[in-house]
Amino acid sequence: MNIEIKNVDYIYNQGSPGEVYALKNINLNIKSHEIIGLIGQTGSGKSTLVQLLNGLLIPTNGEVIVDGISTKDKEKRRDIRFKVGLVFQYPEHQLFEETIEKDIGFGPKNMKLSEDEIQKRVELAMNKVGLNYEKYKDISPFEISGGQQRRVALAGIISMNPKVLVLDELTAGLDPVGRKEIFAEIMNIYNNDPELTIVLVSHSMEDVANYVDRVIVLNKGELYSDNSTYDTFNKVDLEKIGLDIPQIAKFMRAYKKKGHEIADDIYTIDDAVEELSRYLGVKNE
Ligand code: ADP
Ligand code: MG
Repeated sequence: MNIEIKNVDYIYNQGSPGEVYALKNINLNIKSHEIIGLIGQTGSGKSTLVQLLNGLLIPTNGEVIVDGISTKDKEKRRDIRFKVGLVFQYPEHQLFEETIEKDIGFGPKNMKLSEDEIQKRVELAMNKVGLNYEKYKDISPFEISGGQQRRVALAGIISMNPKVLVLDELTAGLDPVGRKEIFAEIMNIYNNDPELTIVLVSHSMEDVANYVDRVIVLNKGELYSDNSTYDTFNKVDLEKIGLDIPQIAKFMRAYKKKGHEIADDIYTIDDAVEELSRYLGVKNE
């Protein structure tokens, strides 16, 4: 399933004194089974863009076409919401049911599925995000940890079987171990669904470097770059727009500058370990 974003502008409060030009002339194509990072400074338009993907916001100008259908088509908007699942920034603010089972089942219930099917989907979604069904189903979503609340929100979207899963800062504010665990679950979901596309909005360059294949960069509402992860961290000038590169990439470049003959195009810890082992092995021979 493809999403085409054609000449899209988005303006909040158009025509009023509080008018904000959040996105300007965005053109993008998102294909089946891609895992994409979306980065940019706070206020660059990331959350606006992801809400345009599932028809929650409608472009001021231009069009977003999901699986051949424009989000401007009111009759089809419901279908588009089910196809493009969006886990909001701070999803814990949107938990509201009295039990975890009901909260996760809210989407499937809206899809008018049978009770039986809803139960199956909730159980499966909970398994996928590492929440034990029997242990958690009857607990209030307000009684669990922040990391578990994010899982409940994620399961609530997964239970609708979306073709595109959009995660807006899903792991922001979680500790490194918690983030790693959730990412392992997300990668597992991605690798087991040959049609699923994931869009990962993130502040963390480490997360982007480790998990995505393609990176979209927004700057002040405009598309700054759209490249492979490799090119993004090696060829795009991110510092110019105030964005960082992964710490390990900085380390490798600094180490090379000290006169060590190592590759300086590395941006993940795993690759750095390999490269440094090679270098130190050769050096010690
Ligand atoms: P990001 O997710 O990258 O931080 P946003 O998409 O949330 O960026 O915001 C883009 C711009 O739109 C910012 O200037 C922000 O202040 C503005 N904005 C976001 N939501 C609203 C809103 N509901 N009303 C008015 N302006 C908004
Ligand atoms: Mg945001």
